[in-house]
Amino acid sequence: MYRVFFRYIFLILGFLIFYINFSYSYNFYRNNFASLLNKENYEVIRVLIDSGYIQSKLDFRGNNISLRYTLKNYPSIYQGANSLFNFLSIIYNPPFLDYYYAQNKYSINLNDLNDILILSDDFVEYKNRKYKGIMRVIFKYEKYYVINYVELEDYLKSVVPSEMPYTWNIEALKAQAIAARTYAIKMMINRRTKGEFFDVYSTVLDQAYYGIDYEKSTTNLAVDSTKGMVLVFNNDLIWALYHSNCGGYTISGYLPFNKRVSKDDYYLSSVKCIYQGNNWVSKISLYEIKNILKRYTKNEVYSINSISVNSFKTTFIYQTVNNTFCNYSIYNWDLRKALNYKIKSPFIDKVKMEGDWIVFEGRGSGHGVGLCQYGANYMAKNGYTYVQILSHYYPNTEIISISDYFSKLLKR
Ligand SMILES: [Zn+2]
Repeated sequence: MYRVFFRYIFLILGFLIFYINFSYSYNFYRNNFASLLNKENYEVIRVLIDSGYIQSKLDFRGNNISLRYTLKNYPSIYQGANSLFNFLSIIYNPPFLDYYYAQNKYSINLNDLNDILILSDDFVEYKNRKYKGIMRVIFKYEKYYVINYVELEDYLKSVVPSEMPYTWNIEALKAQAIAARTYAIKMMINRRTKGEFFDVYSTVLDQAYYGIDYEKSTTNLAVDSTKGMVLVFNNDLIWALYHSNCGGYTISGYLPFNKRVSKDDYYLSSVKCIYQGNNWVSKISLYEIKNILKRYTKNEVYSINSISVNSFKTTFIYQTVNNTFCNYSIYNWDLRKALNYKIKSPFIDKVKMEGDWIVFEGRGSGHGVGLCQYGANYMAKNGYTYVQILSHYYPNTEIISISDYFSKLLKR
């Protein structure tokens, strides 16, 4: 009798605890939306999810969606809906922006509109992906920008499994989480200082971010157990660049990223990697190479006579249509970009001509700068911790908490 009674008590208690946690996290973003919009708030990242011209409509779904919008000439926030609903469709019909909920249609003059905030009790679904936080649609000229305002740690829980397989060793996942967090905050500071209206792209242009459905328990653990940790060099956040696999050693960061990283930033210097990357072979047509040479040299190329390669550059000796011989050297990472990433990495071992084709042979995958992900996992499987992994690929750096970083920054 008593046993049954206790079982029920535990069930009810369990349910209550679950319910309280659940409702707390569900209402967090709705209750705190004003602080989420504060540009000084570095706990919230602004991720550009989508942009373009509204051709038909923009749909947002979620539990109990509500809408707030601001007008250009009035500072106050308008409630688009007092009652809550589950579906919002924004139809752009110049110069009015119509939105619907329930059976009613509402119109706002587009020229008066500053932005729209979309809040829900749990997540907002947009183009079949679910996002935590709030969605903001900003209208600039005739374009729209869908921006997700989300807590940095929540953002990372989607980024880490999108950037590294969630089945990998936990120490490698932790190293990835810290690199991704450092990269994100560096971008936040950079773009906010410039006055830009979002912090990161949701694609590999910055870091891949596809919303809640990508979250996994292993990567959530990696993010939670490194909460707030970032990498600094000389008290400054580093450019925590990372790539798939380096092919044997990483590439010095200031070479391919010379516009972004100065030579002094030797935390991105070349290091040896214990993981030997896979070899790759890519056949590129002579036609394509001639076009690239033409683009870079402005010469009409008649024939290519020889090609050679070293660890940084590929050199072409070619003949123009005017019968003059020329040579042109291009950095391997620039060549990779010019070839639209048809060669897997800038780590080229060999190059040879075969009829109408040029055959490149190399190692690794990705730009080769900073953390090598395959190398990190290999180190982790061999007993190295995330601290050791990070200090290997980003030499001379240290791990500190983001709150310490900001408090030091204020004292400077
Ligand atoms: Zn490597």
